[in-house]
Amino acid sequence: MSTSIFEIIGPTMIGPSSSHTAGMVRIGRMAHSIVGGDIQYIMIEFSPMLRTTYHGHRSDAALIGGVIGLCESDVEIRNAIELAHERGIETKIDFLPEGEYPQNTARLTVGCKDGRVVSVLGTSVGGGSIVIDAVDDASLRIAPEAYHILIWSADTLDLPLSGATIQRGEGKKGVVTCLTFSSLPSESFVSKLRELKGVTALKSIPPILEYGITLTDEKYESCSDLCREAEEKGVAVSDLAVRYEMTRSGFSEEYIRKEMLQLLQRMKESVLEGEKPNKLLYGLASGKDGRLLQEAIREGKTISGGIMPLAVSRAIGVMEYNGSMGIIVAAPTAGSSGIVPGCFITLQEEYGFSDEEIVNALFVSGIMGVIMAHRKVSFSGSVGGCQGEIGVSSAISAAGMVSLFSKEPTKIAHGMALCLKNLLGLVCDPIAGPIEIPCIKRNAVGVANAFISADMALAGIQSFIPPDEVIDALVDVEKRLPQELKCATVGGLASTCTAKRIRKELSCNL
Ligand code: SF4
Repeated sequence: MSTSIFEIIGPTMIGPSSSHTAGMVRIGRMAHSIVGGDIQYIMIEFSPMLRTTYHGHRSDAALIGGVIGLCESDVEIRNAIELAHERGIETKIDFLPEGEYPQNTARLTVGCKDGRVVSVLGTSVGGGSIVIDAVDDASLRIAPEAYHILIWSADTLDLPLSGATIQRGEGKKGVVTCLTFSSLPSESFVSKLRELKGVTALKSIPPILEYGITLTDEKYESCSDLCREAEEKGVAVSDLAVRYEMTRSGFSEEYIRKEMLQLLQRMKESVLEGEKPNKLLYGLASGKDGRLLQEAIREGKTISGGIMPLAVSRAIGVMEYNGSMGIIVAAPTAGSSGIVPGCFITLQEEYGFSDEEIVNALFVSGIMGVIMAHRKVSFSGSVGGCQGEIGVSSAISAAGMVSLFSKEPTKIAHGMALCLKNLLGLVCDPIAGPIEIPCIKRNAVGVANAFISADMALAGIQSFIPPDEVIDALVDVEKRLPQELKCATVGGLASTCTAKRIRKELSCNL
């Protein structure tokens, strides 16, 4: 399956975490579509690894918000639990058995007023992306960007099929069949299915993601292929990126460019919000560190000049806004969402680039992330460590920044590689769950690294290890990193006495 550029630059979402907040909203939204009807109760069972992190990331509110029909960019997610209670919906939280489920998994059991009970098991796989793993205990893999029809029956059905892929699983209510379509199935076809002998229930599930279904298996799997094509055809990397997204989704160039422009506008808004005082969910950081740095710049007190500290201050500001459940653009994750706006909006201001030029640079960043995804990089700190969040965000920013000053594809790829190498092995060690310590200030090093790497690449410096191999090295490190250093709030900074004290204080307040 090929990855959308809008999975790398995007989604627009409420903070603080793309895996634990936006991804959980999406699991809830899928459950909302699958269940339908008037809800009486929602029971959440988190995988045991989320025991220490779910509340800090508001995963409970996110799941409940999704089930009651809110989307990941809705500010009402902040009050979703209260909203559910106001509607007379009971909520309960528990945990799945040890050792059987991936880290960012949750099972939702939803009871309706008409007596129906449906359970949905979903996993958040990083950057807000999700898969549904089971419905009513029947193992299925349901992607949120396609059209699906779910059919419940006592026995296996003989189905009149056209243009659909089919999966079957057996669960506590018999057989669940999942039909997947690339376009909306007709009403008459759905009615025909509903009338089939043996069907006990049927549900049409629309896609919940805006970037559209993947129509082709054609994809960029290496920087070397991308650079070769750009050089041979004499086409800018940004144009190849736009064409890739058009082929993947079937959307028009105009639509795709407009989507990216909207994301840029959202980033600008988040930069402005980051310059206001922000009250972080847990108050572990002041919420005004970005402004402190801006004050130092104004007073001429920074030792590394103006542009880089300014970009850093904005990255910190966006992260402070994210940490207060503000609306940001994940790039590729919420935990690293300050880096791309910090770099690009500061460059735009300093060098007078037009929105169109910045949009092109964002496409370059996006296609670099797409190649990483196709080479199996995980953008989730809990799967691959912070190198897959801050490291990747920094590297894709560097590539986009190089593209603003040079059209040479190899310089763009080497900017990415020089940058990514510097953050290989970066661990994910948030001290008590919420994306506050060290995440906010770690975005600063992502920005600085992107600037320095872009400068090196523009000067003609190349990575000794070829760009594709650097990406593979990141995947290698992901596998070798122990689980304690992947968002488990156990190792690294989370192992310090201060972190343990804070964790204890926070759990007393839950
Ligand atoms: S330490 Fe890095 S990977 Fe982990 S939650 Fe914070 S930003 Fe994400």
